[in-house]
Formats: sequence, C-alpha cells, structure tokens
Amino acid sequence: MPGSKSRTRARGERRPSRAQREAELVSAAIEAAPSDVTDVCVVGGGAAGLVAAIVAAEEGASVVVLEAELECGRSILATGNGRCNFSTVRLDPRRYNDPEFVRATFGQRPLDDVLGFFRDCGLRWSLEDDRLYPLSRQAASVRNVLLARARRAGVQLACGRRLVALEPRDDGWRLRFEARWDAGRRGELRAQTVVLATGGTNSVGGGALTDDLGLERRPLSPALCPVACEDSPLSLLDGRRAQVDLSLVRDDDLLPCWHERGELLFRGYGISGIVTFDLSRRARPGDWVLVDLVPDHGPSELRQIMGMDPEPGCLDGVLDPEVARLLERLACERWDPGAPQLGPTPRDTHADRLVHLVKHLPLRVRGLAAEKGAQVCQGGLLTNQFDPLSLRCASRPGILACGEALDMDGDCGGFNLSWAWKSGLVAGRSAAGLARKAG
Ligand SMILES: Cc1cc2nc3c(=O)[nH]c(=O)nc-3n(C[C@H](O)[C@H](O)[C@H](O)COP(=O)(O)OP(=O)(O)OC[C@H]3O[C@@H](n4cnc5c(N)ncnc54)[C@H](O)[C@@H]3O)c2cc1C
Repeated sequence: MPGSKSRTRARGERRPSRAQREAELVSAAIEAAPSDVTDVCVVGGGAAGLVAAIVAAEEGASVVVLEAELECGRSILATGNGRCNFSTVRLDPRRYNDPEFVRATFGQRPLDDVLGFFRDCGLRWSLEDDRLYPLSRQAASVRNVLLARARRAGVQLACGRRLVALEPRDDGWRLRFEARWDAGRRGELRAQTVVLATGGTNSVGGGALTDDLGLERRPLSPALCPVACEDSPLSLLDGRRAQVDLSLVRDDDLLPCWHERGELLFRGYGISGIVTFDLSRRARPGDWVLVDLVPDHGPSELRQIMGMDPEPGCLDGVLDPEVARLLERLACERWDPGAPQLGPTPRDTHADRLVHLVKHLPLRVRGLAAEKGAQVCQGGLLTNQFDPLSLRCASRPGILACGEALDMDGDCGGFNLSWAWKSGLVAGRSAAGLARKAG
C-alpha cells in the first residue's frame, strides 16, 4: 500500500520481483487482521466500496472492507488505459441502462458531489473534451488518495479475504471469508450492515453469494468492448483510425436506432475504439453498423472535392489515403454487402458509389469481441430490490449495494466510475445512518 511500508528505491536498486511483491502484500494482509465485530462491512474494496467505506467511517461507523485481492483499489489502476477517466462533465442519467434509478440515486448535483469528495481527498483534475482525468494522468493518483483517506478515517482494509458466505443473525449479519494465502483458512466477522460492492468484471462468487440471500440478479455479460464483424474486405483496414459518425441499424429498419460520433479503430476482426465500446452496449448479431467517415462534410461537398472526373487519390485530402484506396477499389468493383439502404439510392456512377461508401460504410455485427477486453458487465442485482435514494435492500434489512454489483452499466467516458463513486457515497451514508440507529 502506498506510503505505509514502501520506501523510495535507491539508485540502481532493483524493482522487487512479482513474487517478492506478492509476498510483501501477503504479510501486510496477514498483519491487518480485521476486528471480528463491526458496524459496517463493505464487501469489495474497488471504486464504489472504497468510497462507501470512507463515508461510513467519517460519519462515525466502525468499518471493515473485505477485499479478495491482496490490495484494495487494483481495479482502478487499469481504468482509462492507466490514466483513469474518473468522471465526465456530461453526467446524464440517460447514458445508463436504468435512467430512472440513476436519476434518483444521483440527486440534484451528482458531479458536484463526486468532485467535492475528490477535492477533499486532495485530488486535482483536468478536462479532455467532456472527460475528467486526474492532473497527473495516472490512475494510481486516484487509487492512492482513496487509500490515504480510508486510512485517515480509520477504515480497516482486510485484503486477501474473499467473502464466501453471508448469513442473517438476530443482531445483523455473519460474514465468512477465505484467506487468499491459505484457501483452507476461514475467518468470520459480524456486522450490523453489509454493503455489497463486489463489482461486475471482478466479482468473485458474487452471484452465488447473492443467491444465498435470495436476491434476484440478471446474469452477467460483458459490455464496453470491441465488436466482431462478419468477414468483409474492410478487415484490410486493420489498425487504421478515423473520427466518424457511427449509426446502428437493425436489419429490418430503415432508420438508425442509435448513433454517436467518436474515434473508430478498424481491426482485422471488426471494430474497436471508444465509439465502438458504446456501440457494444446496444449491438446484436445481425445488426448493421454504418460508418460516416467524414461526418462534417456532406455528399455534395465531397463531389466538389473529387472534381468532375474523379481520379485515384481524389479523396486523399479528407480521408486516410489507405482507407481512400480501399474504398476506391470497392467502388470500382461495385462491392455490395447487402446493407439496408438509408436515404435515396445512389446513382450508379463510380463517383456516387464512392461517396456512398464514404458516408455509409457498412459492417455487419457478428457479436462482441469480449475476449479483447471488456470494461464493464451488464447484469447484476436487480435494482427493483433496492431503494434508489438509500441503496438499501427492501427485503433484506441491513443489506445495501453500490457500483457494478447492481444491474447498472453506462457508456464509455467516465460514466461507470461516476456511478461507482456516487452510489458509493449514497450507500456509505445510509450504512452509517443504519449503524447510528442500531447503536
Ligand atoms: C480495463 C478497464 C478500463 C476501464 N476504464 C474506465 C474509465 O476510464 N472510466 C470509467 O468510468 N470506467 C472505466 N472502467 C469501468 C470501471 O472500472 C468500473 O465500472 C468500476 O471499477 C466499478 O466499480 P465497483 O467498485 O463496482 O467494482 P470494482 O472496481 O471492480 O471493485 C470490486 C471489488 O470487489 C472485489 N470482490 C469481488 N468479489 C469479492 C468477494 N467475494 N469478496 C471480497 N471482495 C470481492 C474485487 O476484487 C474488486 O476489488 C474500466 C474497466 C476496465 C476493466
């Protein structure tokens, strides 16, 4: 953990190997044995769980975080390609799968709440388009300020301890956990209130645990990932990037059901890039994706740029020349993948076919390429079992949930972490409230 036992390496001193680092973390985890009775136990020390734990402890509750990994906040380190796009200035509930629930949990000023919390942690940030990043552009800054504040608030971080059973007791809940360094070694603690913050992508046995509680959940499936497309000559564009307008069209529809602008990365298997991640939350096999490669220029302007008698290279001034070359060839060959025709049918001239490809380049969705890395999971605990204002479970007194443990996912661009932080703030505050009442 930062600060605690770490020290600056002397010049020439070698970095500890992975095994040494693991051994250090194991001994730190063994030393940090948690109390066996606590007001609040937060299960999962990721983004949402750390915030919930800090808030509950600052409001006076005793708090233990049970974390399966040997360190809390590891999930944060991988975000935003290591830079952590931790929020967005356009925090719109409609960018999530359950806007009504999000709207209620967010309250009036969710961004002010999130930024106020991080300001008090000592974090500073800057904007890239609508996205917020830590000033250092290092996800470790976000993780470290959370860990430091958790320690100051007196939160006990019980790492390397995976929750394996959760049972109701007269005075709260009994939690049994398994130590990571010794799978046979079980421990237990009692808590009045339990905050489930086990995440989606990193959830370890979360499904089975919530089944024990008799709670309903939607099965997890990956989202925010690249999209695999049916084989086509466009696989030759592997590695090329473009700023595009992307439209999603269902096979039998004549109007796009969704579209968005952003950076697209062509891959041999399909497409990737931020705009594709958002697409992956909506696309189904068989759907068509139509790519407008020059969204700021209409067909007539393109015709003007190409001139009366278009020659090879006529679009090199507006398109990546490699992309332009392939489209010229496809227009010559009258390539027709059978995509739905949006708008008027183009005239059958080389120039019109080329312009049509530039404005409506078609790819057919084969499925998600989740094996290339998914940022979130769709699914989780059904939200209708929780009060959106307090995140308490209606049927299981003393159980709360936050972050991706709930059936909540949002678009790429800071929406998922924003949900984690804000739902963590709400759950932490209500957990402390419950502890006060019980006390
Ligand atoms: C590669 C990648 C990049 C991303 N980049 C961004 C980004 O830039 N911006 C953005 O907004 N979102 C991003 N996300 C999504 C974001 O990281 C998640 O939405 C967010 O971390 C969810 O927070 P959480 O606390 O619910 O879950 P997590 O942060 O995943 O934390 C859950 C924690 O619970 C622990 N746990 C699970 N089961 C148990 C158990 N049984 N017992 C004890 N502990 C348990 C896990 O080990 C984990 O530490 C990214 C995700 C990935 C994978």
